[in-house]
This record gives sequence, C-alpha cells and structure tokens, in this order.
Amino acid sequence: MVQINENYLLLKSNYIFAEIDDRVEKYQKENPEADVIRMGIGDVTKPLPKAVIREFKHGVDEMGQAETFKGYGPYRGYDFLIGEIINKDYLPLGIKLDIEEVFVSEGAKPDTGNIQEIFGIDSVVAVTDPVYPVYVESNIMAGRGGLMDEDGKYEGLVYLPCTEENDFIPELPETPVDLIYLCYPNNPTGTVLTREQLAKWVNYARENNSIILFDAAYEAYIQEEDIPRSIYEIERAKEVAIEFRSFSKNAGFTGTRCAYTVVPKELIGFDTSGNPYSLNELWFRRLTTKFNGVSYPVQMAAKGIYSEEGQKEIKELVRYYMENAAIIKESMEKIGLNVYGGVNSPYIWIKTPNNMDSWEFFDLLLNEANVVGTPGVGFGPSGEGYFRITAFNTLENTKKAMERISNLSF
Ligand SMILES: *Cc1c(COP(=O)(O)O)cnc(C)c1O
Repeated sequence: MVQINENYLLLKSNYIFAEIDDRVEKYQKENPEADVIRMGIGDVTKPLPKAVIREFKHGVDEMGQAETFKGYGPYRGYDFLIGEIINKDYLPLGIKLDIEEVFVSEGAKPDTGNIQEIFGIDSVVAVTDPVYPVYVESNIMAGRGGLMDEDGKYEGLVYLPCTEENDFIPELPETPVDLIYLCYPNNPTGTVLTREQLAKWVNYARENNSIILFDAAYEAYIQEEDIPRSIYEIERAKEVAIEFRSFSKNAGFTGTRCAYTVVPKELIGFDTSGNPYSLNELWFRRLTTKFNGVSYPVQMAAKGIYSEEGQKEIKELVRYYMENAAIIKESMEKIGLNVYGGVNSPYIWIKTPNNMDSWEFFDLLLNEANVVGTPGVGFGPSGEGYFRITAFNTLENTKKAMERISNLSF
C-alpha cells in the first residue's frame, strides 16, 4: 500500500485563492450580468515590454538554427544574464557579487519554497504574520510545522505579528530561531522596512547564527529613498542572508517564468557536529540534481529587460501600477478607512471597517460593489480584520472599482 507524505494532511485544505474563485464563480452564476472586477490575485495585466519580446524572439530563432541551437544550459544560468544582474541590479547599490553567487531560476515562488531543503529538519522557522503562504506551507510539507492550533498557527513555527499595533514592523523573536523569512516590500501588507529597521534583523541574525531568507520580489516598486532595495545594502548582510528576486512583478514575467536567487559565498551552515558548510555549494548541489536551468529564449527575454529601452519600459510598467495604487489608497482613505502600503508596493492593505472580519468584508465588496479582493486572514491569523487590494488591474477598472466601493456605506 502506498503511503502518502502525511505532512500534506496538515495543510489547510482550501488554498485561499481557490476559495475566492469558488465564491466569485457562485456569485457570477447567480448574477450573470454582474461586471466583477478582480483586484485579488497578485498577477500583472500589462503585456511584456517590447525590448523583452525582441530578445525572446531572437532566442527562439537561434534555437531553430544548427549553428546557434542550445541544448542544456548552465545550471546557474547564462553568464550574459547573470552579468546584467550583477552589473545593473547590484553594482549601482555598491554591492559586488560573484558570477557563482547568482542562480537564475524559473521563479521566486519555487526558490522560496525549495530553499528550506538545504536546512536541517529541526531548524526553527520564523515568519512574519500575515505572510506569503509559500514560506509556511513549504515548511509544513517538509515536516517542520507540527499541528495547527485553534488560532490558525502551526505549533512548530514562530510567528512575528505585523499589525496596526506595531506599525507592521515585526519585533525580534523572543526565542531563538534559525531561519527567518522576510519579504520587503511586503506581500500582503504593502509595507516596507527602512535601512535601520532591516539592519536590526541582520544584526540579530549575525548574533544568533540565523539565516534570513529575504524575498525582494517587489523591489522595483520602491519609491522612497531610505528604503533598501537589497538586503545586501546592510553591512555584513552577505554573512546571513539569501535574497530572492523575480522578473514577474517588474517586467510582467508571471507567465514567462524567470527569477533569480543570490546565495553569497560567505553563508555558512553547520552539521550536527558543528562542522561548517557553504550554503552556496549546497544550493548548487541541489540544483544539479533537481533542476536543468531556465529555457534559453526566456533567459534572452530577461536580458532584454536590462537594455536601455527595456529599463525605460519596466519603469513605465511600475509607474502605471503605482498610479493605480495611489488611486486606491486615496479613495479608501477618503471614505475613512485605515489604509497601509501602496506607496512602495502594488498592494494596499485595508483595515476592515466596524470590526468586520476579513471574509465578511470580502462578501460585502463582492455582493455590493462587484469588486474582488483578498481576505487578510488568508495570509495568517494576524491578517484577520484586514483586506488586500492589488494595483495590478487596468487604470480604468481601478477607477471604476474605487467609485463603486466609495458609494457603499459602512
Ligand atoms: C509574486 C511573488 C513572487 C514571485 O514569484 P514568481 O515565482 O517569481 O512568479 C515571489 N514572492 C512573493 C512574495 C510574491 O508575491
């Protein structure tokens, strides 16, 4: 008899976006004429930049010619792309990286989900709450979570609440932790950490021999000066942090799939006898067994982002979404709601009015305004009483949705 991995039984049965889809589908069936505007899922809507398409096509053409055909590529990714990443994403920030420290991948979701494999099963994992569900669920699947208590928290994980009460700034854990997932600009709250606030975490990690898993998927949305774009802007962070980045949200690669992860050579983990090992080598070792690289045309497409034209085009993409964010933020503030995020990120995090719970507010917006957002509680227990709206829709739909919500009375 085949035994399943019973850790999967510990996962909450209904992934939040499936539940949202179910409710929207039911509403649409009952109200076929309703024009429902979706501002829930964090997916982009604008097409790929022209500079990307040009390189993408070029890459495809090369695959059709014997002279330029490519078979398996390098595990880490092609140097032509890694070189651009190092020179254009990091050097301007004063950060020097070695070619062997950058790993091109098909997504920050798989990388943030898979990275836990190179760490011991007894590692204590800390997550901010609310949180991008991938960090939690990948650790549950691996067996680090334990059972869920009645508050919706896994007993084996350390939760760092981020709420109005602490201005969404997580406090350092009270008990020692080994792995700390941080995502800034944050999904779902849209909030950020200043250099000083992030430095506290780097210091904590250095003092406690912890590793920070820093998800910077929304780096391109940072507008303010004192917000770090990379954790390596913090002194000595290379000794304690892995950074994840993605072309999904800055360049519209959600369906094209390309991202990268930085694992500095300074990073060290230990075996049970206390012998040190390079995390960079461990991650590479994992890749050579489980990964065969990102397709050549897609890496060419990603290279297109770094051309002068590509850089202009992605700035324009971000500007477009951030205009939506500003409209959402302003409209929601105007009707008296407490609104967070939306300044350095495409997410707006709203405190629900009148102590409504997240799903109550979801149903209200769906039924009364035909607008779909994401209930905050889906991102963790501290998300209860909050609601996420994304800026990834069209300007037209964003304005329409805000008008409809503004006409409701709470
Ligand atoms: C969208 C998103 C990503 C990007 O994932 P990809 O697999 O690169 O598309 C990573 N982390 C967070 C928090 C995200 O919201």
